[in-house]
Amino acid sequence: MLSATCHCGRVRLTAPVPPPYRNECHCTVCYKYGAIWGYYPKTDVTITIDGSDTPATDPAFSTTTPLPGLAYYIRDDTTVASGSPSVSPRGHLAFARCAHCGCMTHWVGVKPDYAENPKQRVGINTRLMVQEELAGVEHAVTKGPRK
Ligand SMILES: [Zn+2]
Ligand SMILES: [Zn+2]
Repeated sequence: MLSATCHCGRVRLTAPVPPPYRNECHCTVCYKYGAIWGYYPKTDVTITIDGSDTPATDPAFSTTTPLPGLAYYIRDDTTVASGSPSVSPRGHLAFARCAHCGCMTHWVGVKPDYAENPKQRVGINTRLMVQEELAGVEHAVTKGPRK
């Protein structure tokens, strides 16, 4: 079991295994956060806030209202250049941070079609994991426009 814990310790996400790879995303928002994401199916992830567990498959995990103890930035720059090889809806992602210490902990989709689908993914900020436990995990970099 791996844990990603914010600086103050109020927020922790757990997953059963290391991610297949880590992604340092250089899109407009992730680059500014400095997050390095590990992607997991919701079924693998549990969030613990102030000692209270919520599985990522719980509908409350994927609404536009953050769980108590979290704060959200819901990405709203939905325009994706036509012809982009990786057209994906971007306006549906909530970037979650600890409401106390401000560490970026994860992102989650908050549109209904995403929220209701347990197979959808969660991005966990692997910078919050014990780095030694990620030894051998490939570090990818997704280049993109920075603004
Ligand atoms: Zn915190
Ligand atoms: Zn990104």
